[in-house]
Amino acid sequence: LFITVEGGEGAGKTSVLHYIEARLRQEGHKVMRTREPGGIDISEQIRAVILDVAHTKMDARTEALLYAAARRQHLVEKVIPALQAGTIVLCDRFIDSSLVYQGYARGIGFKEVKAINEFAIEGYMPDITLYFDVEPEVGLARIEADRNRELNRLDQENLRFHQEVRAGYQLVLDQFPERIRRIDANRAIEHVQEEALRQVKAFLDA
Ligand code: C5P
Ligand code: MG
Repeated sequence: LFITVEGGEGAGKTSVLHYIEARLRQEGHKVMRTREPGGIDISEQIRAVILDVAHTKMDARTEALLYAAARRQHLVEKVIPALQAGTIVLCDRFIDSSLVYQGYARGIGFKEVKAINEFAIEGYMPDITLYFDVEPEVGLARIEADRNRELNRLDQENLRFHQEVRAGYQLVLDQFPERIRRIDANRAIEHVQEEALRQVKAFLDA
């Protein structure tokens, strides 16, 4: 079972994933939590190149290709073997992030970004995706309150960019209504994590 979580900055994806992981484990499931871009050495190195604050000259298509390359290696090296071993894979971001950030917010186009990603993933789509929908103002305020956070190149973007990201997610949600479940992530984290867990369990029981 391949589960991905998606959403803009400060939506709470990472902390909710920790929670779901712990709860599923308590119930005896084999679970692996991982993230994109990253999750394994090669892809973490690609992540560092993409997010380096010094790389202000990075072209949007270069960025899209690097994300797709990181995605492929992570998928082949880590995700597919885990799925084949019957492990539930919880992945922080996947293809929808590329469609939204590079395809929509950076303006490359959904079709273009979808094409390179189809090349990269060869049909390995998530079974279910939780989309944490947060108002950019709320998400950005959470991020600013988080003092442990490492700065990245996206911190140079303005509110407008994050509004575009949200609009992009809405379009992707409309395209994949079966796979993607929207969760209102403006609420306190306890509510968000309970609803996320409920959605995952409903899927497991179905
Ligand atoms: O989810 P996480 O915070 O680890 O993502 C790191 C950064 O990369 C974020 O600022 C996110 O907005 C950005 N990102 C992106 N395009 C993607 C995936 C992530 O710009 N396809
Ligand atoms: Mg995160």
